[in-house]
Amino acid sequence: MNPFSYARAGDAVEALRLGHRNAATYLGGGTNLVDLMRERVARPDALVDVTGLSATIEETEGGGLLIGAAVRNTALAEHRAVRSRYPVLARAILAGASAQIRNMATVGGNLLQRTRCTYFYDTDGSRCNKRARGSGCDAIEGLNRGHAILGASSACVATHPSDMCVALAALHTIVHLQGSGGARTLPFGELHRLPGDHPELDTVLEPGELITAIELLSLPFASNSTYRKVRDRASYAFALVSVAAALEMDGGRITDVRIALGGVAHKPWRALKAEAALRDGPATEQSFRDAAIAELADAKPLRDNGFKVELAKRVLVAVLGDLAGAVA
Ligand SMILES: Cc1cc2nc3c(=O)[nH]c(=O)nc-3n(C[C@H](O)[C@H](O)[C@H](O)COP(=O)(O)OP(=O)(O)OC[C@H]3O[C@@H](n4cnc5c(N)ncnc54)[C@H](O)[C@@H]3O)c2cc1C
Repeated sequence: MNPFSYARAGDAVEALRLGHRNAATYLGGGTNLVDLMRERVARPDALVDVTGLSATIEETEGGGLLIGAAVRNTALAEHRAVRSRYPVLARAILAGASAQIRNMATVGGNLLQRTRCTYFYDTDGSRCNKRARGSGCDAIEGLNRGHAILGASSACVATHPSDMCVALAALHTIVHLQGSGGARTLPFGELHRLPGDHPELDTVLEPGELITAIELLSLPFASNSTYRKVRDRASYAFALVSVAAALEMDGGRITDVRIALGGVAHKPWRALKAEAALRDGPATEQSFRDAAIAELADAKPLRDNGFKVELAKRVLVAVLGDLAGAVA
């Protein structure tokens, strides 16, 4: 680890001022950033601790929730309104990491945690375009069992690691940001990027821009939502494939549905094709399977991860079956 300065901000204005003055990196719970510093993937000269930002969860006038960037993952998963109105979010958070890590991890940090591609972390021996643009990607011809099957590029096949973000992608979520140009909001689906020619950029954030909150818009049928994660171990492992979904039905017909997949792409993957195939149709195993096939039609598996294509289809069918059964 190289030497760095440390300062703690009491609020967003102070964080921006300190961050701008020192070209600093923001520090949430540190559960990802400190590992990246230890592994010399990240070498910030200055840290601004942003755990003093808002840590409240408030009802909005529109019937949603405004969640401060410094809210810890445990507090969010345990919140009564989250558990009853957005159970997919509580389940996704609880499927990630460990209790100790969730106690430390913040909402802002979870959104911006970096890929778990082993080549990205291997600063001594591996080429990685995400770590050093233009250096090459050793995952493409390497051990790529955990890598992307959708939306990858010839520069990067890494996947996004967050469980929480898959749930946020399925819900109707807005990200609140503050930067040197003022405050702005972003639909959650526009925050993370596909790799293209610039895999070093995970998001569309401007340098120094701060996440101040996320907002869950009202989505009444999200009370019928869930998250399922398939991984190599029952705990303490990242997703091979995960599915977040919410389903609204009228009799045997689907009136609305929202789906996102995890473990398959460089960003949480909103399954718009599957949603379109399902909306206004019957809730049957065949329609679920057809929707899954439509979503995965463009999958381009690598040498070791072809199994993810069928796995994603099967998990999606199972999750939709559970949700349809829950409201039948
Ligand atoms: C052993 C282990 C297992 C794990 N397993 C899982 C898992 O199964 N599923 C899963 O989803 N996650 C898992 N995680 C990852 C964990 O969820 C993340 O490390 C955590 O969410 C990051 O939050 P943090 O507050 O600690 O972020 P930090 O490490 O502090 O920061 C992460 C990034 O966010 C930036 N940042 C932080 N706050 C802000 C802000 N307000 N505005 C702008 N930028 C900000 C930082 O600059 C940094 O780039 C695991 C982690 C470990 C160590």
